[in-house]
Amino acid sequence: MKNRLRLAPSPTGLLHIGTARTALFNWLYAKKTKGEFLLRIEDTDISRSKPEFTKNILEGLSWLGLNWDEDPINQSERIDEHKVIIKKLLDEGVAYRCFMSEKESQQLRETQKKNGLPPKHDNRYRDLSKSQIESFINEGKSSVIRFKIDDNAQISWHDQIRGEIKWFGKDLGGDMVLSRRTNGDDIGSPLYNLAVVIDDNFMNINHVIRGEDHISNTAKQILIYKALNYKLPKFSHTPLILNSEGKKLSKRDSVTSIDEFREMGYLPDALTNYMALLGWSPKSGENEILSLEKLSKTFDLKDVNKAGAKFNWEKLNWINSQYIKNMDSNDLFNIFRIYWEKEKWEIPSQQWGLNLTLLIQDSIIILRDVIDQSKPFFKLPEVDNKGLDFLKNNDVKSILENVIDLLSKKSQSINHNDIKEIIEEISNKYKIKKGILMKSLRIAFFGCLSGPDLIESWLLLSEKGEDLSRIQRCLDII
Ligand code: GLU
Repeated sequence: MKNRLRLAPSPTGLLHIGTARTALFNWLYAKKTKGEFLLRIEDTDISRSKPEFTKNILEGLSWLGLNWDEDPINQSERIDEHKVIIKKLLDEGVAYRCFMSEKESQQLRETQKKNGLPPKHDNRYRDLSKSQIESFINEGKSSVIRFKIDDNAQISWHDQIRGEIKWFGKDLGGDMVLSRRTNGDDIGSPLYNLAVVIDDNFMNINHVIRGEDHISNTAKQILIYKALNYKLPKFSHTPLILNSEGKKLSKRDSVTSIDEFREMGYLPDALTNYMALLGWSPKSGENEILSLEKLSKTFDLKDVNKAGAKFNWEKLNWINSQYIKNMDSNDLFNIFRIYWEKEKWEIPSQQWGLNLTLLIQDSIIILRDVIDQSKPFFKLPEVDNKGLDFLKNNDVKSILENVIDLLSKKSQSINHNDIKEIIEEISNKYKIKKGILMKSLRIAFFGCLSGPDLIESWLLLSEKGEDLSRIQRCLDII
């Protein structure tokens, strides 16, 4: 039978990097084993679920290239089915109606706290008689449905990442709530642990890969699988993504939604490559730059770590810069144009735009760096302090006057060789160190002492007819 894996996001927020990484591991494993990757939108929490979040999650996954194999299932459309099954569990006596009020729960928690005990439901409504239940209902008491968890139950499974995992019923917090609170003998809408089991079974999911924060849920869910006589899927619990303090990366950390990464200028391939390395690594010595295609061949659950994976911006940036470096320059130019158009910066010709792209391609880390790096080619920059000091301490004036003199003797459009000749001639004739000459020109053109290749930069300015005017501006400053 084919492997069937799924992502089951709750549409209560934007697609988060943790969810995207879970999606990636599921997707990679599905591809590697020629299985299927499915989606289920867990939208039964009506107050917090929003269609715009579902849209954002689907768009984010598509942007990352994590396509799914069947139409996504909306869990909310299956609520009636969930209720039928809760009713069955009630009828079988595996589950029961619990009338514990909010006040009673609070008192229980307080007593436990006083006695230094962890919070645990005490199952006090487990053994009511039929008539007691009826009279509570008639009194108008509200209730939830709970699933009985025997303290002595032993639950174990072989986790594909973590090996043998064992749990005891007594450590699961008491009888588990299956449905939300209702009045009368209604059954409230289903809660996660119940709905997830019914729907994973319905979708024929045979391998569940999700974050390690779900391990205790898995123990609870196994009890429900058994009560319903469903076939157990395999389980794999991935390590969490941690922030720099070693805590679970959360919405409170600066950038966490896939949208934000996208806006900052991370490429989808670089992001999936980096996410794969959060908790997994290729065999030692192997290249870490791996496309989705390559990853889906190399990835293996048995190589996934158990320990949490710290989010490392430097590594992500390095990977992104590698993807940008290796990108087809025409494709990159088409991306850069969009940034330039937004800034209303006009390129004099296609070729000029492509040449500028080629000039800065290797120094771009995230796409939005293109703004800072290309701005000096569109807008005349101020001379910075280091530049002003340099102008003060060197005889830049005569150097620049000589450049203007030689430039005016050249034909209108200069080329690479013309520039080389000008530099040679001035440095030989006036015994000026080339370094000083080049720095003087850099300040004249760009107002600072560093930047990309000077000759190529000069050519770009010259094509825009701005080299002479910028040198003249510098002379005015001096
Ligand atoms: N809706 C759950 C979540 O987003 C799904 C967890 C699971 O994969 O079972 O955490």
